[in-house]
Amino acid sequence: MTLHADYDPNNIFAKIVRGEMPCVRVYEDNIALAFMDVFPQSQGHTLIIPKRQQARNFIDMPSDHLGSYMLRVQKVARAVEAALSPDGMVVTQFNGATAGQTVFHLHFHVIPRWDGVPLGRHAGGGMATPEELEPLATKIRSKL
Ligand code: 5GP
Repeated sequence: MTLHADYDPNNIFAKIVRGEMPCVRVYEDNIALAFMDVFPQSQGHTLIIPKRQQARNFIDMPSDHLGSYMLRVQKVARAVEAALSPDGMVVTQFNGATAGQTVFHLHFHVIPRWDGVPLGRHAGGGMATPEELEPLATKIRSKL
């Protein structure tokens, strides 16, 4: 996968937006959807995706839709902090497979970090169950 390519409307996050794939939802409005990462790098690892734009990555995202989307990224990051009280937080995204991107629909990662707790592997750790993710999502939702 190159940095620039056609958007695949059947990528997994597009299916989640359309309700064709399940997710543990944290936040949704007409601009963005936030849900728990199913291969979390830490407790509370959350993804925020734009709902209406077919953008593979940050570079592709139409500039006039970026501001409203980034406000949602910050809103969710603040809720993760308020809910889980981490010592630090990674807010990041990857552009292109070479950079580490594995799902080609724009998303930001919010990854809370605690002192002394190592970061899990990116997109390659153990799969969390909905039963494990739902209590975390409930806590985060309560701060939104
Ligand atoms: P990327 O590698 O593109 O930056 O991040 C994709 C993220 O999506 C990874 O952190 C990976 O764990 C997560 N992911 C992959 N497939 C699914 C899925 O089906 N559901 C959820 N909730 N997360 C997924």
